[in-house]
This record gives sequence, C-alpha cells and structure tokens, in this order.
Amino acid sequence: MIVRSAEFVKSATRPDNYPPAEMPEVAFAGRSNVGKSSLINVLVNRRGLVRTSSTPGRTQLLNFFDINGTFSLVDLPGYGFAKVPLAVKKQWGPMIRTYLGGRPSLKAVVHLVDLRRVPNEEDLQLLDWLEEYEIPTIPVITKADKVPRSRRERQIKGILEATGLPRDAFTLFSAITREGRDEIWQRIEAALGL
Ligand code: GDP
Repeated sequence: MIVRSAEFVKSATRPDNYPPAEMPEVAFAGRSNVGKSSLINVLVNRRGLVRTSSTPGRTQLLNFFDINGTFSLVDLPGYGFAKVPLAVKKQWGPMIRTYLGGRPSLKAVVHLVDLRRVPNEEDLQLLDWLEEYEIPTIPVITKADKVPRSRRERQIKGILEATGLPRDAFTLFSAITREGRDEIWQRIEAALGL
C-alpha cells in the first residue's frame, strides 16, 4: 500500500455523527495500551496521526481517518483501562455494538492483543460480537520486539488457547522493527477489495 494521504476526518460517538459510509472501511480495536495508535501510525507512515495513549477519563470516541481518498480507517476506543470512570466504561459496549452492527461500509476489524498478555474477558467479548455481526477479523499480536524469538511461540500458545483461533490467523507486529506491517496491509487490502 502506498499511502499518499492520511487525514483525520472526525470523531463521533453516535451513528448520526459518523461520516457518510461512502468508502470501504477497516476499524482497529484492542485494550488500552495494546499499541493500537502505534500500529495505525506505522501503517500510514505518519508519526503523530493518531495520538498515542489515552488519558483516563477522557471521552471515548470513534476516530475516522481518510486514506488516499479511497478508504477509511477507524480507531475505536480502547477498553479495559482500569482508571476510566464506570460511567465511561459503561458506554463502551453499546457504542461499539452500535458501530459494528450498523456500519455497512465496515469490511473488517483489526483486533490487537499484546504478545505478553493473555486475552481477557473484554477481548473475548469483542471477538464474540465480531462473529455475531459476521465481520471479518484480522487478529494481530503486538509488541513482538518485547519477547525474544525463542520465547514467542510459548507466549502465543496462551493467546491461541484463550481465543480458540489458529496460529496462522495471527500476524505478529512490532511498531519498533515494523515486522508484520506488509502482511497487515495485505490483509487490509484484501478485506477492502483493493
Ligand atoms: P494504544 O493505547 O493502544 O493506542 O497504545 P499506544 O500505541 O499508545 O502504545 C502504548 C505504549 O506501548 C506506548 O508507550 C508505545 O510506545 C508502546 N508500544 C506500542 N507498540 C509497541 C511495540 O510494538 N513495541 C514496543 N516495544 N512498544 C510499543
């Protein structure tokens, strides 16, 4: 993928604020701090397009980006931040479900999990919804550089057990070494029909 332009379009919480569903779209989801902002920035080669790391308590928003004027990437709010107020936490599920269930232009969701952590309840909940709405999922394991190659497969085993997904469903990614970037783009392009 050659990224000629990458522009922030708008933030939204409700469907009446989403940009028009005119272009095919891929969204990114994962728990807070999983490396979602870093992944999107590496994909589009823009260091600061997506602001990294959320401030606890901030409003949770869906952020829409236009790429090359031909497709959209959507940064979904991260989940599982311990310090987020309960009122904000409670909005997350309905907001995500409303988006997943009512966005005809959505072609796939890139779901991120940290190589060093076992997927939790919220990760599995999200995978359930993706299955329920029949949205193709692109599973990505982040922060590959944090674990030596010799120990990676042992870490991955816990992720496979928790999610029930096969090993080849996952792409390993590092924002530091950029390993996995091309493979993730190929999977996104295939989902977008490009
Ligand atoms: P987000 O909350 O999911 O958007 O996560 P961020 O992209 O803000 O990343 C959270 C923290 O993890 C930041 O300190 C990043 O620099 C760091 N990080 C993200 N991806 C990687 C990675 O692939 N390798 C390493 N070593 N650190 C990463």
